[in-house]
Amino acid sequence: MVNKKRREYLRKTLIATAAALSGGYFFYKKRSDLISGPSSSKGASVSSTSGEPFEADSLGAHRKANAGGKEAMYYVTLERNRVRCELCYRTCNIRDGRRGFCRNRENRGGKLYNVVYGRPSAIHVDPIEKEPQHHMLPGTQILCYGTAGCNFRCRHCQNWHLSQQTIEEIGDYYDHPPEEVVENAKEKGVPTISATYNEPTSFYEYLLDYAKLAKKEGLRILWHTNAYLKPDPLRELLLHTDAVTIDLKGFSSRAYENSEAELEPVLENLKIMKEAGVWIEIVNLVIPTINDSMEEIRDMSVWVRDELSPEVPLHFSRFFPAYKLTNVSATPVDTLEKAYETAREVGIHYVTIGNVPGHTHNSTFCPQCNNIIIRRTHFQVADINVSNGKCNSCGHKIPGIWA
Ligand code: SF4
Repeated sequence: MVNKKRREYLRKTLIATAAALSGGYFFYKKRSDLISGPSSSKGASVSSTSGEPFEADSLGAHRKANAGGKEAMYYVTLERNRVRCELCYRTCNIRDGRRGFCRNRENRGGKLYNVVYGRPSAIHVDPIEKEPQHHMLPGTQILCYGTAGCNFRCRHCQNWHLSQQTIEEIGDYYDHPPEEVVENAKEKGVPTISATYNEPTSFYEYLLDYAKLAKKEGLRILWHTNAYLKPDPLRELLLHTDAVTIDLKGFSSRAYENSEAELEPVLENLKIMKEAGVWIEIVNLVIPTINDSMEEIRDMSVWVRDELSPEVPLHFSRFFPAYKLTNVSATPVDTLEKAYETAREVGIHYVTIGNVPGHTHNSTFCPQCNNIIIRRTHFQVADINVSNGKCNSCGHKIPGIWA
């Protein structure tokens, strides 16, 4: 009994700490029918991904099928009721009664179900700058939804209490079908719904359904992703998307090893997003010893300039020790400033520094006249000098979504 109380105390403390770190609050509504406790986990070491189907059964997949959720999209049924999930580059091969690597897609008798459909564990209104999205409706609020689960295993994850747990381990969630997500946004008077906090791929069907409804109501759809979906589901979701923030974990296999994933699919997906015409911004969390060499940052910037556009914003964000990466210090500010200079030298037009409140380069500068076009302090917008998508000082066209 004492241990149970202590576990509950620790769980609540972790959630409160993560909410405070994220600058907001997560709201939970308890549903006891799901709280059966985690099933057994073998905790095998893992490797990724894009070649052979991923054998999900060896990954601590959960033995007990739950009711609820919704049948998943993008999977094929194999012999002996196995299924192969085709949603992301893990391509999990899942036995009956088990779940995939993301902990959310469950094989029930040869049918795959998404167990977090309509069951967000985190809902909050945030400034859009927090995503970060700097060229889409600056200074407005977004209604954010997140669930359990993720298809990456980033050792530095700031939201691991959501992303690296099952819905049962989190224990609490809202009952919010897609219609209620849209109603919630309308009631709160926010123009945009964002899928964020954990990887939206892990609640793909839910996001797709509320995005379709939200677009009919004139709302904007944004998601913050590691960009590891397969091309077909990605293209389908992009049809109902306005903007995407992409976490580019680095520009080397070493950087992606820290997340147990691979770089190449992410780069291909960035090109697909750009071709689809949605607005994209890239954030790179600069982590000492993992991805902080200026050669790597130069290579990344050159690739963005040549394969996407010099007008795609690039945000360099400061790392703080978290989750399994507590033996690495916070990123020195001068490393971020060197990254800024490197990307600007390469020719990226819009570069900012994040997680350093009050830094000059929290703000966005006009690439033509060098005046500040959006003055920010951390997530707060103080001044917008853009009218009709043009710099107020020199008339330079600033790309983005402004109305
Ligand atoms: S979405 Fe989940 S179950 Fe499907 S392939 Fe990716 S990690 Fe595996």
